[in-house]
Amino acid sequence: MENSLQPTPTTSAGSTEHYDVIIIGAGVTGLYQLYRLRQMGLKVRVLEEGTGVGGTWYWNRYPGARFDSESYTYGYSFSKELLQEWDWKEHFSGQPETERYLNFVADKFGLRDYIQFNTRVLGATFDEGANCWDIRTADGSHVRAQFLVAAVGILSAHYMPDFKGVETFKGESFHTARWPKKSPDLAGKRVGVIGTGATAVQLITEIAKEVGHLTVFQRTANYCAPLRNGTIDAETQKKIKASYPEIFRRTRETTAAFIHDFDARAFFALTAEERNARFEELWAQPGFAKWLGNFREIMTDPKANEIYAEFVRNKIRERVKDPVVAEKLVPKDHPFGAKRIPLESGYYEAFNRDNVTLVDIKADPIERITAKGVKTRGGEYEFDVIIYATGFDAVTGAVTRLDIRGEGGQSIKDRWAKGPRSFLGIQTAGFPNLFLAVPASFCNVPRCSEMIVEWIGDCIGYMREKGYARIAVTPEAEEKWVKHSAELATHSFLTRTDTPGGSWFVGANIPGKAHVPLLYANSAPNYRKECAEVAGKGYEGFTLK
Ligand SMILES: Cc1cc2nc3c(=O)[nH]c(=O)nc-3n(C[C@H](O)[C@H](O)[C@H](O)COP(=O)(O)OP(=O)(O)OC[C@H]3O[C@@H](n4cnc5c(N)ncnc54)[C@H](O)[C@@H]3O)c2cc1C
Repeated sequence: MENSLQPTPTTSAGSTEHYDVIIIGAGVTGLYQLYRLRQMGLKVRVLEEGTGVGGTWYWNRYPGARFDSESYTYGYSFSKELLQEWDWKEHFSGQPETERYLNFVADKFGLRDYIQFNTRVLGATFDEGANCWDIRTADGSHVRAQFLVAAVGILSAHYMPDFKGVETFKGESFHTARWPKKSPDLAGKRVGVIGTGATAVQLITEIAKEVGHLTVFQRTANYCAPLRNGTIDAETQKKIKASYPEIFRRTRETTAAFIHDFDARAFFALTAEERNARFEELWAQPGFAKWLGNFREIMTDPKANEIYAEFVRNKIRERVKDPVVAEKLVPKDHPFGAKRIPLESGYYEAFNRDNVTLVDIKADPIERITAKGVKTRGGEYEFDVIIYATGFDAVTGAVTRLDIRGEGGQSIKDRWAKGPRSFLGIQTAGFPNLFLAVPASFCNVPRCSEMIVEWIGDCIGYMREKGYARIAVTPEAEEKWVKHSAELATHSFLTRTDTPGGSWFVGANIPGKAHVPLLYANSAPNYRKECAEVAGKGYEGFTLK
């Protein structure tokens, strides 16, 4: 198992540390991977760009940032003690509480000592002779490790559009995914928000109440649905804690590992009244019930989708006083669920306020950012603050921004130029001993990320036990998986690339990005089963040496 170390450029201290495993990222996934591998007695280090743990919940500090997952379905399930010790304060926790939770986990399990913060990984090169990775960081240091786990997140590479003149703006500007720790004072200011995705919907609702004037630049109207959040009282807290086994049993069975699951009844076998009654019932429930608890056919059949889409459109119309503004906020160019459904707590009412203006940038496109604000074709808007709520180079972005070089010096960026290629989403051919702990399936993320982390831990354990030093997916297994994923993707609006107004689910939000399904469109139980079967057959589809 020992690797013969080759000389490499050294750290400033003069030597190159060697680890069993380097993990990139200290978010939900990286933290649990660290815990798991430390439990196995391995020498592990996490390299994290931020100055604290939490990943998504460290970076996204914008006002209003919170879960769309029920808090108690999102927390880690691996420790009964942790489940009993932690009290979620709200049904859908806000960013500050979630960041506190992940810090609590890091402290409880003594993880912090193994994390190197403030450390951006630039790239890694596979040393084929030594079967190990040489990892470079932004400060010019190198470390080596037999295994590299990229727990870099599906929504961590934030995207800044290439507007002309961004640097000329004289006021303050922020990207929501790089929100300062000391939140800027927006009270009374003229603020422009670019974007109306899930983040913007949370942000706009929150800041509309305090800013002087808010101008929202909307490219695509979304189907936003009420979150219906609330605080958790002592009685409910007790019930939640007593029902964790039941909660996690349920999330192991449902399609997307939420507590909600699709209604399998045939949509058109019910009368319009029956369907409508069900829509209303779901609409009154918290969270993603109105999406993931809805009729399955809504995600697959254009006619069923349109009926529900019109129900949602009417819900929006009911809430916006000015019919012209309402029509701008009503999505008409894509099916319900083809983009992520933002959950909201008063978003539409924000547009009833006198201090909020909506600009449709499809009709009046942004031409440039100026010293004073935003210039559209129709005029110039002056701001003290511009907020870019422009999302992420999702799923693949944080991986392809790394200069990872595998066998023969090939880069993952080139290899994935036409879209991601992997087996199980966990390894890509030509990059031995590199595990992608990027939970790229349609899933309540921690539920799938726990599964992937455990799979990787078990795999490394298996290799140690059998004396293998290298694991690489075969090109055949990868090709089969790529085809299988592509076929599954055609079944749902979520991942179909021919759906109008496609979303980050298919790379459509980033100019020049390959327009392909990025999320594995199988159900979470099937995905878990597929991963378990591969492991159960001695890692079939991989070559172990
Ligand atoms: C605003 C928002 C709300 C969300 N709400 C939900 C929700 O309700 N339910 C849900 O299931 N999911 C939600 N998500 C998705 C969320 O990303 C996941 O739930 C989860 O937090 C991902 O954890 P992770 O550890 O896999 O990745 P991340 O949390 O993204 O962590 C990745 C870490 O890797 C680090 N990193 C990346 N590249 C490098 C590098 N080159 N060098 C060093 N460090 C690097 C990053 O700094 C980051 O800390 C939400 C996402 C956002 C942005």
